[in-house]
Amino acid sequence: MIKFPMVDLVGQYKKIKPEIDEAVLQVMETASFINGPAVKQFQENLQNYLGVKHVIPCANGTDALQVALMALGLQPGDEVITTSFTFIATAEVIALLRLTPVLVDVDPDTFNITPEAIEKAITQKTKAIIPVHLFGQCADMHPIIQLAKKHNLHVVEDTAQAIGADYSCSESGKTMKAGTIGDIGCTSFFPSKNLGAFGDGGAIFTNNDELAAQMRVVVNHGMAVRYYHDYVGVNSRLDSMQAAVLDIKLKHLDEYAEARQKAAAYYNKAFANNPKIKTPFTATYTSHVFHQYTLVLSDVDREGLMAHLADNGIASAVYYPVPLHMQKAYLDPRYKEGDFPVTEMLSKSVLSLPIHTELTEEIQQVITKAVLEFTGK
Ligand SMILES: *Cc1c(COP(=O)(O)O)cnc(C)c1O
Repeated sequence: MIKFPMVDLVGQYKKIKPEIDEAVLQVMETASFINGPAVKQFQENLQNYLGVKHVIPCANGTDALQVALMALGLQPGDEVITTSFTFIATAEVIALLRLTPVLVDVDPDTFNITPEAIEKAITQKTKAIIPVHLFGQCADMHPIIQLAKKHNLHVVEDTAQAIGADYSCSESGKTMKAGTIGDIGCTSFFPSKNLGAFGDGGAIFTNNDELAAQMRVVVNHGMAVRYYHDYVGVNSRLDSMQAAVLDIKLKHLDEYAEARQKAAAYYNKAFANNPKIKTPFTATYTSHVFHQYTLVLSDVDREGLMAHLADNGIASAVYYPVPLHMQKAYLDPRYKEGDFPVTEMLSKSVLSLPIHTELTEEIQQVITKAVLEFTGK
């Protein structure tokens, strides 16, 4: 039986139960389930938190990415560059819109897309770049934005795993929140994400008034004036109940990130100097909000370690076991095994340990002890 899960959403809820229950009951009492005042309030509070002009709530993170690409007016066959090491949703929306996903390899330390690899992948058909801020730290955005300016490309950040992370621009010295650096940022409020709802949810961020107006139309059936449909849109809404929950959790987001960072520091210390375990690396230009705490193992039987942890009641997970170019639905004659050596190496050697806001040193002691029992000190 798993005693120590990857996340502890029940423990987190219990600490803020009175506030949450009251807010949810309020929505029920007023029956304003869709686009109620709770949605507007959360939208404004999130805009202020992020320091961004527009937040457009939507139904989930995958929709956020899809709506962003729809609003850019791309044509079938246009190329969109993204990382080979991410959750499928990033590439899924590109494929769904009949755009061409162009995959590039990642940095072995940060697990994020690199400006060098992006530059090599740019062609006449490239229209957009989707950097993913994987596991909770930002990709190297300044050089990516420079490349985008030079080649006239859109930048859509997938910040589903990094909401609240700070990016410090080496050039301007300015600090910006993840998802507010490119043209559009997309996030997910899936329950286990750093800002998680009690169901599905997502949001899109932008400082661009025109894009914001266009995306508000796209999420609402392509309708700016009621029952007049100027575009083919989608139906993608954040419901009021989720917004009420999220608005309360937003107040705790920074303290949640601190709890995750503290847990990561404990793990780092316990695994320091173990030649078989590489602990997460944080780049100088970003903070890390540790959506995942991901080790790179060398010379360790990963399946064996996972079984040993499970025997001790400890969850662990592999994000992600199969690179995008080797997923059945995405097989493509342009790509073959060996094309993305870093991604392929990582998919075989990464292991994520439980990390969440309710982790105690006692639990971490049990987890680190079990890991070191198996790998040797
Ligand atoms: C979770 C996630 C998504 C999709 O979010 P949903 O809300 O589940 O649709 C997209 N990209 C990344 C990197 C994610 O981790």
